Amino acid sequence: MILQTVLIADDDSTARLRLSHFLTEFGYRVEACLDGNAVWEKICAEDAPKLLILDWMMPGLNGLELCRRLRQREQEQGDGDYHYILLLTARNETGDLIEGMNAGADDYLTKPFNKGELRVRLRAGRRILELQQQLLEARDRFEKAANTDPLTGANNRGSIERLLNAELDRARRNGQPLAVVMLDIDFFKKVNDTFGHLAGDEVLRETVRRLQAELRIYDHLGRYGGEEFLLIFPGDNVEGARGLAERLRQAIANAPVNTSAGLIETRVSVGVCVVPEGNSQNVEALVGQADVMLYQAKDGGRNRVELTIAATE
Ligand code: GH3
Ligand code: MG
Ligand code: MG
Repeated sequence: MILQTVLIADDDSTARLRLSHFLTEFGYRVEACLDGNAVWEKICAEDAPKLLILDWMMPGLNGLELCRRLRQREQEQGDGDYHYILLLTARNETGDLIEGMNAGADDYLTKPFNKGELRVRLRAGRRILELQQQLLEARDRFEKAANTDPLTGANNRGSIERLLNAELDRARRNGQPLAVVMLDIDFFKKVNDTFGHLAGDEVLRETVRRLQAELRIYDHLGRYGGEEFLLIFPGDNVEGARGLAERLRQAIANAPVNTSAGLIETRVSVGVCVVPEGNSQNVEALVGQADVMLYQAKDGGRNRVELTIAATE
């Protein structure tokens, strides 16, 4: 819908109506502005139109100033968001065209414009926007694939390690605590041996689904190794982290996993390392301490949570 909407700006009501009339006839939805400031406001809003027809001479910000501002903003945001700008003007010197394009306009139409010409130029603009959109979607897909474990859909190891580094930096900056968690499925080898590898895969997928359902929007979960997961609970102190880790353990233990090979009782052991505010431990040391707690939980009989507070450096 965004690509089917054209934002037009012209302070002259006759010109605006004529343009609007043509665009509607071509099948576009039209949003009209009377001056440059109104355009800027609209562009800055969520889901703003990407196809713009701007008059050069307008009160407030004129078409050229809008072009410059918009291009600067696009560059600053750097997320690939692009607006196609068709500059409309009564000026028809070659120098004007160059000035307009230099300011960031994609195309240029002099008044009075020809209806057929407007139509095909807009079509070219829309094609560029569609290509840009496809490019962004492809980029997002590749990015997601590069960060995702294909079996479970959780973050992969590289991704969860990057998240841990970022969350640790943030916790340091904000003086907030954070918990690093290692969670491992108990006797998983036996699941494979008894029910087969495919049923084992189903258990892994369901485990992630249940963990994900318990986590808050700002927590992170990643598959660290085969049946071992690294989790991050930003902002959690001892009490919060223990509570959440315990809920995760129960979410797995409370009901068997329904697989194609039958119901499979599944248990997990959990090691937690809480980093108090202001503690600046390095990532490897924290993961190491969570791992020690995990092995303590295994040694203590499995299906349990063990917690430690990160040693100060
Ligand atoms: P513990 O309670 O001490 O953790 O015992 P465990 O059997 O869970 O641990 P162990 O490390 O001995 O075995 C892990 C098993 O997980 C071995 C491996 O074949 C299996 N595994 C690793 N990745 C996958 C996978 O993607 N799918 C399946 N089905 N099994 C996997
Ligand atoms: Mg295991
Ligand atoms: Mg393991």
